[in-house]
Amino acid sequence: MTVLVAIECPHCHSTEVTKYGRSPIGKQRYCCQNENCPYRTFVLTQTYPRRTREVKQQIVEMTLNGSGVRDIARVLHISPTTVIQELKKTHSPQASEPKTSTAAKT
Ligand SMILES: [Zn+2]
Repeated sequence: MTVLVAIECPHCHSTEVTKYGRSPIGKQRYCCQNENCPYRTFVLTQTYPRRTREVKQQIVEMTLNGSGVRDIARVLHISPTTVIQELKKTHSPQASEPKTSTAAKT
């Protein structure tokens, strides 16, 4: 039985990939089903799950929608600290907002 997983072969970029046991250090190995693939087996080197990026994206979007840190943490099932850290990181040092200087009237 072959179980297709949503993974792309880094060598030939085929998505016809099946699980192929584990490497000596316990990483999931994959077997590429493409006959022309130069390697056929590979181990994903990416340590961060894809979910991390999605969560980051959601934090930004929810913030833009006016959600508070606690709301975001509750919805995404992460700690408020994580939310705050992400917001600090994403807060790009953009050009300072034009401040409406209140000219002193006499
Ligand atoms: Zn391949």
